[in-house]
Amino acid sequence: MSFESIIGQERAIRLLTRMLLNDRLAHALLFTGIDGIGRQTTAKALAMALNCTNRVGVSACKVCRSCKKAISGNHPDLIIIKPDGAFIKIDQVRSLRNQLRFAPLEKGRRVIIINDAQTMKAEASNAILKILEEPPKDTHIILTTLQTMDLLPTIVSRCQHIAFRPLPVAKIADVLTARQGLDPDTATALAILAKGSLGKAQSADPKKWMPWRRHLLERIGSVPTDSIHALFVFADALARDKDKLEDALDVINIWFRDILMCKFHPEKILNTDLVDSIESASEELSVEELLKKITAVFAAQRAILRHVNPRLALEVMMMRLRGDLGALA
Ligand SMILES: [Zn+2]
Repeated sequence: MSFESIIGQERAIRLLTRMLLNDRLAHALLFTGIDGIGRQTTAKALAMALNCTNRVGVSACKVCRSCKKAISGNHPDLIIIKPDGAFIKIDQVRSLRNQLRFAPLEKGRRVIIINDAQTMKAEASNAILKILEEPPKDTHIILTTLQTMDLLPTIVSRCQHIAFRPLPVAKIADVLTARQGLDPDTATALAILAKGSLGKAQSADPKKWMPWRRHLLERIGSVPTDSIHALFVFADALARDKDKLEDALDVINIWFRDILMCKFHPEKILNTDLVDSIESASEELSVEELLKKITAVFAAQRAILRHVNPRLALEVMMMRLRGDLGALA
């Protein structure tokens, strides 16, 4: 819960700490960005620094009464709202409004952090908007969400927007190597899949993940010679493993992308631990064949995002990877 622990968000931290030092922190802030890049930690670090009675510069001391309460999750003026199930419910916002009718309980500022604000439906959003329209005294409200378009424009326009950026692959890999002692190839493989989210990369178990990825790619390698029945069994197994489906399609996508890249810019191969297999696949497959395969994977990813039945989308993808279906729309 300190600014120093947040990696790769120098710009956001600089903006916030400058406001803090000048005592000009906006009453309403909106932190946007993907999960796992430090929005919530930053919000808490900010709340702590605001109320720390021993602050040195922008850093909270972590030992004063206020800091200790914040660290243990018992600070009465640090209110964190997160989805109750899939959504932030209207009752949660109503109870917040009741709390806000009173002054902060302690001497400092009250900070309300609303995590995953994109999960508010219309009623809850409108209730939050009312709060933002008449901001209570000595209170700061921090909303976190994926992107500004997830919220009512009227909410966005009342907040100071701070964008948190996805981290580059190399940066995530460096952190994994330094903090978890991973070898560079494993760190890079995990970093690629994390798509900019350090949190996601750190929560993956490399001992499980690396063999899973290798097995998946071996399986993909045998698709052209598989029977249709075997392909449908494979598609079904992928579809059933819902939690891993998005990752699996990313792995397959990057694999074909690497094989294509190998023909033109081998130095840009991302799966650095699989260069030998990538080189031999690159000799076997033409550019046209590779583009068809990449298109097939993209089409499946898009279809699943549009809530097409995953098993059907994967069956079509397998057929196209095998070469049985041409360039379907
Ligand atoms: Zn303190």
